[in-house]
Amino acid sequence: MDLYSGHINKLIDELAALPGIGGKSAQRLAFHIINMPKERVRRLSEAIVQARENVRYCKVCCTLTDKEECPVCSNPKRDHRTIMVVENSRDLAAYEKIGKFEGVYHVLHGAISPMLGIGPGDIRLKELMERLQGEVDEVIIATNSSLEGETTAMYISKLIKPTGVKVTRIASGVPVGGDLEYIDEVTLLRALEGRIEL
Ligand code: ZN
Repeated sequence: MDLYSGHINKLIDELAALPGIGGKSAQRLAFHIINMPKERVRRLSEAIVQARENVRYCKVCCTLTDKEECPVCSNPKRDHRTIMVVENSRDLAAYEKIGKFEGVYHVLHGAISPMLGIGPGDIRLKELMERLQGEVDEVIIATNSSLEGETTAMYISKLIKPTGVKVTRIASGVPVGGDLEYIDEVTLLRALEGRIEL
């Protein structure tokens, strides 16, 4: 027996399919939305559709952006010969927030995880290697210190070494398993400044 209307059930199912939202949270959100003024619901749904339709990957660094090239890549004042490799756009935002990194980024959109069946071909590695054909002095690997992040760092450094480009890894001090976006700015800056050559 359906306790709620089919429409509510459909909404709950859609919300529950999002990451980090369990059945109970999905129910709570669904009822919250039902009780919101119709105009706000319309704005929320439009924001979702607009974001999905207009956000794309920067053609240089692969981060999510509204334009063909993101604000960092299109900024001539940035040091385009120093590339920091991060797992996702949230990590990029974390480094941009401290405002001390003058180079540019490369966003992998994931990390290698044999356990989850995510291989080198499933992240934006090919794009990174293509960038190295240009003039690059240093690649700073700033993937997370989780098992996946370390595996990815190791894989990338092995791939880049033969090209002669300097490869560094941000210092530990970033808590193991810690997602970069949750780390405070001082720790993040220290990790960047204390990077070691691989
Ligand atoms: Zn970019």
